[in-house]
Amino acid sequence: MTRITLARRPEGTPVPEDFGLKKGPLPEVSKGEMLVEVQTLSLDPYMRGRMNAVKSYAAATEIGDTMPGQGVGRVIASQVDGFAEGDIVVGATGWASHAVLPGDGAFKWDKAAPPSTALGVLGMPGFTAWTGLREYGRPKAGETLVIAAATGPVGAMVGQLAKSAGLRTVAVAGGAEKCRLAVEKFGFDAAVDHRAHADESAMRSALAEACPDGVDIYWENVGGKVLAAVMPLMNDHGRIPICGTIAWYSGVNSTEDRLPMAWRNILTKRLSVNGFIIFDHWDDYPDFVEKLAPKVAAGDIAYLEDVTEGLENAPQAFIAMLSGGNTGKTLIKVS
Ligand code: NDP
Repeated sequence: MTRITLARRPEGTPVPEDFGLKKGPLPEVSKGEMLVEVQTLSLDPYMRGRMNAVKSYAAATEIGDTMPGQGVGRVIASQVDGFAEGDIVVGATGWASHAVLPGDGAFKWDKAAPPSTALGVLGMPGFTAWTGLREYGRPKAGETLVIAAATGPVGAMVGQLAKSAGLRTVAVAGGAEKCRLAVEKFGFDAAVDHRAHADESAMRSALAEACPDGVDIYWENVGGKVLAAVMPLMNDHGRIPICGTIAWYSGVNSTEDRLPMAWRNILTKRLSVNGFIIFDHWDDYPDFVEKLAPKVAAGDIAYLEDVTEGLENAPQAFIAMLSGGNTGKTLIKVS
């Protein structure tokens, strides 16, 4: 089997040398386990955090360990009741060609939507959007929602759910093509290109124009310049679900202290700001799949996948995703 490991801890933005490639024999399977040949691997922004030796909501990856991640694959040997050779399963395979999964650490994919969707629109990112919007965004028809990384799997789902709830939806995306996709494919009412608006005040003017009634929900995916630009546009009693801050995952590069501005806005506008981690909500995942899978299969919910061939290319695809090199859910076709 082949696996991609953490070779060393990155300093700032990861580089290919931070990853290793190891080959070895196929692992043995014991009672209660199954051996899976990985077909598709999911690459997600949270993996950047696991590369650091800091205490967080999940343990750091140790040097030499396989990079963590979810994958979809085919069972090639099973010692688990209820799982048989040929089943397509989803589980924590890591960045590897094969994985041994425990019976309670995998589930079968038997939906009409393709198995790869179990990693994106119908997987952890789509579920994050569905849960976070309902619980922490609390959308109401007629309100305005702003979200960055808008063509990614979280952003595209939040945008479509908010639009169907009757909100004005405003995308922030990197580049003209992603802005076009946000509007034409994912139905956003407007899109602002953060690359075309270099500083915070230019960003704010563009957003103010796109949000004539202010902002009721700012779905936080990125932090950085976008957050600083949106804060003064928030309406009273607005909500900010904090889902991610990808602009800062490889280190903060601005020394300016924006905290007083942020806290002043939270106070004076009585904003509700909620950090959330989707793993706390996992019990609701079956309900999400039950409700959303038919819509995805029917084409009522749009999604985009950005597929790179070959496990050995995972580090490069991951590095590219962190700075917007992906268009849609980042996946690796492993076999
Ligand atoms: P994406 O596939 O959208 O990939 C990340 C995107 O972030 C890039 O494509 C890029 O889009 C954007 N980006 C990167 N750097 C910047 C920057 N400096 N400023 C603005 N945008 C930037 O990711 P996901 O949809 O998988 O995840 C979106 C966010 O949700 C991430 O922050 C992730 O960590 C978080 N998340 C949190 C979860 C939770 O439980 N709280 C669960 C799942 C995801 P563009 O080119 O358009 O700028």
